[in-house]
Amino acid sequence: MPELPEVETIKNELAPWVVGQSFTQVTIFDSELVCGGSAEEVRRGLIGQKVKSLERRGKYLIFHLSNGKSLIIHLRMTGVLLLNPKGVDCYARAVFHLSNGYRLVFSDQRRLGLMWLVDDADTVVGKLGPEPLDESFTPGILGQRLGRHHIPVKAALLDQSIVAGIGNMYADEALFAARIHPLRKADALSPEEVQTLHQCIRKVLGAAIGSKGASVDTYVRPDGELGTAHFDFKVAHRRGEPCPVCGGNIERVLVQNRGTYFCPRCQPLGRGPLI
Ligand SMILES: [Zn+2]
Repeated sequence: MPELPEVETIKNELAPWVVGQSFTQVTIFDSELVCGGSAEEVRRGLIGQKVKSLERRGKYLIFHLSNGKSLIIHLRMTGVLLLNPKGVDCYARAVFHLSNGYRLVFSDQRRLGLMWLVDDADTVVGKLGPEPLDESFTPGILGQRLGRHHIPVKAALLDQSIVAGIGNMYADEALFAARIHPLRKADALSPEEVQTLHQCIRKVLGAAIGSKGASVDTYVRPDGELGTAHFDFKVAHRRGEPCPVCGGNIERVLVQNRGTYFCPRCQPLGRGPLI
């Protein structure tokens, strides 16, 4: 699933071709893509509108339009946004034609992605937690937010209302980097552990943006190229492989039904209370 680094990469790579352009034609093949309105309303609402800016908030991509409205896209599991692909494949759910002659194709194998056209973006993204790469996101804020939740820290990191943009892969990578067991309770971490986790979240996300995201599944960049962040993964998707730090076996457990990878030696459970 595209997480913060993947959506940030998509935003960065789309912006030069999309910002300043108007929608000239929009085709929505799959009406279930659209939330809070009909596909026809969205189609008509977009035609003639210029994209003033592109923004990422959590895992959402926001097109700010010249009439003040926002087109918001969430790629969910398998959504991709392709710029001028050679053809339109059978997974295409919408095609947006732009005034520069470019085509933006929303393709989505599992058809779980969603799209909104709203007056106020906050109606969709307003409840998200802070952006982990913002200057204003401090260890103190992370500690406060984790401290309100008596749940596994892995589950807390996945909760978009606690911190925005972190998903399964980068939660595992950040917890490994911080040497924190994913089942430790969020409210039981010491201030030092929170500080380390804060640093590791930023480091892991920043490095993944530098590598243009992780193509472990269907994620590709708008030009169809792969990201390479997964080559740097230490534990995520590496069950049974040796831990790059201690050589022990990387294990996989389920945390709230999400496959969670960690090193039991480097991330001992005994360091703090579990319940
Ligand atoms: Zn290890």
